[in-house]
Amino acid sequence: MDTIPIGRIAGFAVRINWSVLVILWLFTWSLASTLPGAAPGYPQTAYWVAGICGALILLGSLLAHELTHAVLARRAGVTVSDVTLWLFGGVTRLGGDAKTPKEAFRIAVSGPLTSLAIAVVFGVTGYGLGALGAAPILVGVASWLAGINLMLGLFNLLPGAPLDGGRVLRAYLWRRYGDPVRAGVGAARVGRVLAFVLIALGLGEFLAGATVGGVWLVFLGWFIFAASREEEAQVRTQHAFDTVRVADVMTAHPHTAPGDITVEEFIARYLLGDRHSAYPVTDRDGSVIGLISLSVLRRIAPGRRTATLVREAAMPLSAVTTTTPDESVTALLQRLAAKSEHRALVVDSVGSGGVVGIVTASDLTRLIEVYQLAGAGQLG
Ligand SMILES: [Zn+2]
Repeated sequence: MDTIPIGRIAGFAVRINWSVLVILWLFTWSLASTLPGAAPGYPQTAYWVAGICGALILLGSLLAHELTHAVLARRAGVTVSDVTLWLFGGVTRLGGDAKTPKEAFRIAVSGPLTSLAIAVVFGVTGYGLGALGAAPILVGVASWLAGINLMLGLFNLLPGAPLDGGRVLRAYLWRRYGDPVRAGVGAARVGRVLAFVLIALGLGEFLAGATVGGVWLVFLGWFIFAASREEEAQVRTQHAFDTVRVADVMTAHPHTAPGDITVEEFIARYLLGDRHSAYPVTDRDGSVIGLISLSVLRRIAPGRRTATLVREAAMPLSAVTTTTPDESVTALLQRLAAKSEHRALVVDSVGSGGVVGIVTASDLTRLIEVYQLAGAGQLG
């Protein structure tokens, strides 16, 4: 997207896409052409100035909607990449998923509730201004802002991705099924049905003679259809990661280091000229007794390297995370998240019980990055 950063609000990077100019113009035009009906008798320029002001305040309302999503996401521990305003309003890009359906629900529903609250504020303001005998053009702008925000709040609650209602539905299904993947697929399907309904309504309006409104509905339906399909594909990709086993990412038959050599010798003979940063340490009979890694070695003073044996420096087997080739990688990641050493020894689950592989930080970092890429979400 061609977006321009406009700075940070409440700590979030806010960006604007050039297509905002289209809605700015549409809103200005729409307000400037309805105002003369509500508040007649002003010069034409007054309507246009009021139109521009109203449209800018509306953009501010859209921003407030998005920032509410962003604040609640941050509170739930979800990273917010940025907030962008564009043709269809705003998008808050998240770096992951909420941990519980309750948090997901709050993040999603907060935006439409903000729009509805803003609608109430402008409704009351318009009513108050009218009662106080303020200029009718001001009352007209306030009522218009109340109406549009009310529509935006309700429209965003429609249950289809990427609308907030789609997220709300997903959170509800997540709580009901206890499975975010199944909930995501379910919500995406409902989104597709909604898209077809909008397209059908649009075609109906078009045939009945309401050309602009009809085309707009078809366009919107098509947009929701595409987004729902993308959403379902994304959920399925993420689901695919749940089926990745440790065996698929581990380094099989890792180089081992004997426990009875000195650290000095280990560095010279094994570490230098090898790409591995962690080695299972073996006893004389070949059984694995621990793990030695760069992070462990860093804790040994250079002067003590000739006096320390690898078996003394190594992490004992009892302190090392172990896994089996058929454990799911996501399950291992969750177990490792709490540990300081982000690697695990892979122990044969059926045969000898010997070490058959090692999962290192670099294997996992790559996987985590791919995982985050597939799991990144967006909110409207
Ligand atoms: Zn929203």
